[in-house]
Amino acid sequence: MTAQPTPNDPTGELSTESTAFRAAIDAVRGVEPRIADAIGAELADQRSSLKLIASENYASPATLLAMGNWFSDKYAEGTIGRRFYAGCKNVDTVESIAAEHARELFGARHAYVQPHSGIDANLVAFWSVLAARVEAPALERAQARQVNDLTEADWAELRRDLGNQRMLGMSLDAGGHLTHGFRPNISGKMFEQRSYGTDPATGLLDYAAVREAARAFRPLILIAGYSAYPRRVNFATMREIADEVGATLMVDMAHFAGLVAGKVLTGDYDPVPHAQIVTTTTHKSLRGPRGGMVLCDDPLADQVDRGCPMVLGGPLPHVMAAKAVALAEARQPSFRDYAQRVVDNADALAQGLLRRGGALVTGGTDNHLALIDVSGYGLTGRQAEAALLDAGIVTNRNAIPRDPNGAWYTSGIRVGTPALTTRGVDTDGMDEVAELIHTVLSATTPGTTKNGKPSKAAHTLADGVAEQVRERSADLLAKHPLYPNVDLG
Ligand SMILES: *Cc1c(COP(=O)(O)O)cnc(C)c1O
Repeated sequence: MTAQPTPNDPTGELSTESTAFRAAIDAVRGVEPRIADAIGAELADQRSSLKLIASENYASPATLLAMGNWFSDKYAEGTIGRRFYAGCKNVDTVESIAAEHARELFGARHAYVQPHSGIDANLVAFWSVLAARVEAPALERAQARQVNDLTEADWAELRRDLGNQRMLGMSLDAGGHLTHGFRPNISGKMFEQRSYGTDPATGLLDYAAVREAARAFRPLILIAGYSAYPRRVNFATMREIADEVGATLMVDMAHFAGLVAGKVLTGDYDPVPHAQIVTTTTHKSLRGPRGGMVLCDDPLADQVDRGCPMVLGGPLPHVMAAKAVALAEARQPSFRDYAQRVVDNADALAQGLLRRGGALVTGGTDNHLALIDVSGYGLTGRQAEAALLDAGIVTNRNAIPRDPNGAWYTSGIRVGTPALTTRGVDTDGMDEVAELIHTVLSATTPGTTKNGKPSKAAHTLADGVAEQVRERSADLLAKHPLYPNVDLG
C-alpha cells in the first residue's frame, strides 16, 4: 500500500509508528474487519475525549507495540531460571530486564513483574505474607518441609489459621480500594477486616486513629494506599504503627506509582523504603501496559516469586516485554519532568475549581487527583458524571467521606491528570478544563422521578452547553494531539 499524504503526514512519508500500526490493523482486517474498525474507533475516541479518569493514561507506541508478538504464545510458569516449561530462555531475558528496571527505578531489593493486574499483584502479596507468617511457622512446628508433608489434622489446622487472619486498611469512602479487605472482593472473604478513615474536620488521614485501630485490632497486615485520596501518605509513620503492633506493612501504590518513579513522592512519602511489600499496577500513572507488579525486601522474595502458580495463571511474556519498555522509559529524566507536571497540573485544576466556587475533599490536592464534592451544585456524583460525559468530559463518580448518597449515586467526582499531562496539557490548559467542568456542573439540574420526586440518577443539562463545551475542549485537545506520529490514514 502506498502512503497518501494526510494531515499528520503531509509529505506522504509515514512515520515508523504509523507503518507499524497500519500493518497490524491491516493484518487484523484480513481476518475480522469489525475488530480492525473497533481498534481504529478506539483511537479516535481517545483522541477526541477529555480524559480525566485518574487511573488511566496513554502508553507509548513502543510500549503498545512490544505487546503484539509471539511472546504471547509461550508458557513460562515459574520464575526466571526456574520454569515448569522448557524453552523459556527468551522469556527469562524479558522478565529479568523488566525486573532489573523495576528494582533500579524504585530502589527495591526484589521485583516480581508477572502479575496480570493490580488485583493479582495484591493477591500475590497477601499470600506471600500468609505463607511467610502463617504457613512457614506451621511447617516448622510440624517439622515438615512442605505442605504435602503435613498430616491431615495439621493441614486442616493450617487452613483454618490461613483463613483467620486480620487486615487493617483505608475505608472505601476515604479513598481505599475494594481489594483491601472489602467483602465484595476475595480479600474481604479471606481476611477479617477493619478500616481506618480520615479526620471529619480536615478530610486528612488521621494517623492517631490508625494507630489506635491497629493497637486494638492487631492485624497481620496493615495496608496503605488508595485510589481516591488526594493527598500524600506518610509511609514512615505507617511503618512505625505496623512495627508497634507486629503487622506487615503493605503499600498498594497502584495509583501513584508514577509519582514514586518520577521522584515526586520521596522520603517519608516514598513507600518502597518503608513497606515490607509494595504492589502496583503498571498502567496508571506509571504509563505502562495493563498489568501489575510486586516489590519487596529479601525475606518475602522467595514467597513472592511463587506467585505463579500460587495465585496467577501463566505469565504474559508479551506484557512483561512491554513492562520492560515502559520501565525503561520511566528511568529517563523526562519521566521525572512528567511526574512533576502531573502534580502541578492537578494543583492547577484544583485551584481552578476552587476559584470558581467548587468544593474539594481536603480542600485541594498534592498528588495526581482531586475529589470534587458536587453537592454544592445540587447534584449527585452520578448526575455530575453523566452531565460531564454529555459534554465529552470523561470522569468517574466516587464516594466522598461519609457520603450521604452512598457508593452507587455518590456525591463526588474524581478527576486526575496523568492522561492529559501525557498529551502535553499544561497548567493554563488545566485552568481551562476547570472552567469547562464548572460550566457543565453549573448548567446541570437534577431530573425528577416518575412520581415527581427529585431523582438521584436523572439530570438535565441546559441547552447548548454540551455543544459549547465540546467545542472548547476540542480546541484544547487539538493543541495537544494524542500519538502525533500515528496516522492510521
Ligand atoms: C486500580 C487499583 C487496583 C486494581 O488494579 P487492576 O489492574 O484493575 O486489577 C488495586 N489497588 C488500587 C489501589 C487501585 O487503584
